[in-house]
Amino acid sequence: MVPDHLNRAFRKSLGRLRHPGTGILLATTSTMVLVLSLVGFTAEKSTDQSAREPSLLDLLDEVARDADQKESLPGLPPKVPEASPWSSPLARQCSDIDQTMRTRLLAKRRELPQIRQLIPADPTNFGERYRSDPWGQPLNPAPRVVILHETVYSLTSAVNTFLTPHPRDEDQVSYHTLVGLDGSIVDVVDPLKRAYGAGYSAFHGEWAVTNPEFQGSVNNFALHLSLETPGDGHDSYGVHSGYTSAQYDALALVLDDWLESFDIDPAAITTHRHVDLGGARADPRSFSWENLQNRLAALGSLCRT
Ligand SMILES: [Zn+2]
Repeated sequence: MVPDHLNRAFRKSLGRLRHPGTGILLATTSTMVLVLSLVGFTAEKSTDQSAREPSLLDLLDEVARDADQKESLPGLPPKVPEASPWSSPLARQCSDIDQTMRTRLLAKRRELPQIRQLIPADPTNFGERYRSDPWGQPLNPAPRVVILHETVYSLTSAVNTFLTPHPRDEDQVSYHTLVGLDGSIVDVVDPLKRAYGAGYSAFHGEWAVTNPEFQGSVNNFALHLSLETPGDGHDSYGVHSGYTSAQYDALALVLDDWLESFDIDPAAITTHRHVDLGGARADPRSFSWENLQNRLAALGSLCRT
């Protein structure tokens, strides 16, 4: 029998496995094997009352170990280029909470397990997180930055892109989670896996080069979330009418979950625009940090030490 705490960790780490279909199994098989082996391992020790509940980071460590580079290239990885400094618009906030908003968000949070959908991306569109680079240098695979994006086109078209197999490395793309204009939440990549949400990119002078044929990126230590673009923003330039209240609610609930699950600093919530080193990305356009600040404060996410 699987202990309850492992059941909880299992459910949380794999996202929501309520939706039938072989795609789910394909997308999560390696994690599942790992978790099941952990279950067996811990079950043997279950008589020890002090047995610690495996955190998502424990599970990640095991997953990443399987992805380690087998042979090292000579020399050193390319250095991350200088980028303009950035500091988060989000501020610590423990008072002046909007109680009406808090009540609404807490009610939505209770419904989250039912409304959060899992539509797994094709396995060509994501990969494992690495603990070492091709030159044998150690990498920390723990998610510690959240990158916000926008879909530019509809959520459905983004999902279809992620469901499409992309054999060529340069075509592979994914986010971990999408948030629709109606507040719907669609998880497409397990947060323990590496989504291909950003190309040439760095956060506070850090990137990871996981393939010697490509420039470095934040993907190895990032969680990617994309907001569905409203209809007047389908031209991919300029501004648009912005995101809905339901969308900011859902965004805050996913972020609150990630911050807690992976012990991420709210100051590490950033945008594709700010991590992009190529200067070509501007997403998410028309984003209101104030709307996010108010909601995260209402959830208590901005008042943790
Ligand atoms: Zn983007």
